[in-house]
Amino acid sequence: MDATVTIHRAPWIIPVTRPVLADGGIAVRQGRIVAMGPFADLRAGFSGRPVVDHEQQVLLPGLVNAHAHLELSHLSHLNQTRPAGFTTWVEALLAARMADGRSDEEILAAAADTLARMHADGVIAVADIGNTPVARGLQETFPGVLLHFTEYLGHGRAGLPAHLDRLAREESRTCCTAHAPYSVHAVLLQELKKRARRLGHIFPIHVAETAAEVEMVSTGRGELPAFLRRRGFWDGSFRPTGIDNTGSVQYLHDLGVLDDKTLCVHAVHVSEDEIGLLAATGAGVCLCPGSNRFLAVGRPPLAGFLRHGLLPALGTDSLASNPELSLWQEMRLLARAHPQVAPADILAMATLGGARALHLDELGSLKEGRRADILAIALPTPPAHDDELYEFLVTAGRSIQPRWIGER
Ligand SMILES: [Zn+2]
Repeated sequence: MDATVTIHRAPWIIPVTRPVLADGGIAVRQGRIVAMGPFADLRAGFSGRPVVDHEQQVLLPGLVNAHAHLELSHLSHLNQTRPAGFTTWVEALLAARMADGRSDEEILAAAADTLARMHADGVIAVADIGNTPVARGLQETFPGVLLHFTEYLGHGRAGLPAHLDRLAREESRTCCTAHAPYSVHAVLLQELKKRARRLGHIFPIHVAETAAEVEMVSTGRGELPAFLRRRGFWDGSFRPTGIDNTGSVQYLHDLGVLDDKTLCVHAVHVSEDEIGLLAATGAGVCLCPGSNRFLAVGRPPLAGFLRHGLLPALGTDSLASNPELSLWQEMRLLARAHPQVAPADILAMATLGGARALHLDELGSLKEGRRADILAIALPTPPAHDDELYEFLVTAGRSIQPRWIGER
């Protein structure tokens, strides 16, 4: 009955939801984990089965990239120069998309290349946001889980009927989402969330990425209204909360948009009260440290999220705002910016945090019965204790070269 079982042995196994397993084993049958525990126990339980020894390596679950825009991969030249500010970057991005003469095939090829690199870098699941359907077909080519979201943009009241009409015609299997509180009309935002709720879809949305967004949401003033005015979308229909320091999370809560399937991406400018709202509604958080750093928008209140029992996910965002789409690098940036946060928590964000945020119950940790999407990573020197192991994984960045084992 166990003829197809292979035992993977390693000096360290990180299940994520349990402590590090020293001299552990994982029994894999046809792409599934059938048992995990001390190697000696597995050896006895599956006698005669082949053993693959992963010497001086650590085994851990595949990573989850909870926020990316694959369709922007061909615009990587935008990450070569730091923009003067956030809206300057948005304008440069819009201009680059307009001016770029590349065909859909070329855009798709760049997106496919980015996705393949992510998988080679240890990513098993990606939440991909697109304004066009170009990258949607990549789902079939990805060995892991690729969730694609069609993102709506539309701030003005005039465009509302057309957006709602388009939304009503979307196929029910298409996951639709809103770009951000500052770029989507409140009514459209609510209708998008209502639809996602009805269909059981995850609802990722950029939230509180910049201080300018908080200013617009609370006062209706600042560089974002000015930007919308320049583009002809500021028509006075936006209703600010009118209360100082009331941010985007409170705004979304007031619109009835927060629940356990809403994923607040960036969440940089979030108050302590708003962290409490996120925790109370069960909404998810996805941090994008590399993109935040490139656009110089600030640092999220990570310690506050963890104190409230939230485990954020991690995302790379796109090559248009991040020179390197690597979750190892995202962990490294986060660890450097938040030295008070335990490295084990940061690794949990890149695995379990992402799986929870995207409701991918099969992923994010190693457990019996789950998919055997397991990474093996060589360690330059044996760690003296578990903390040193976690420390290495979240600070080594691009020097980590993972290998997939146990795949079907
Ligand atoms: Zn984004």
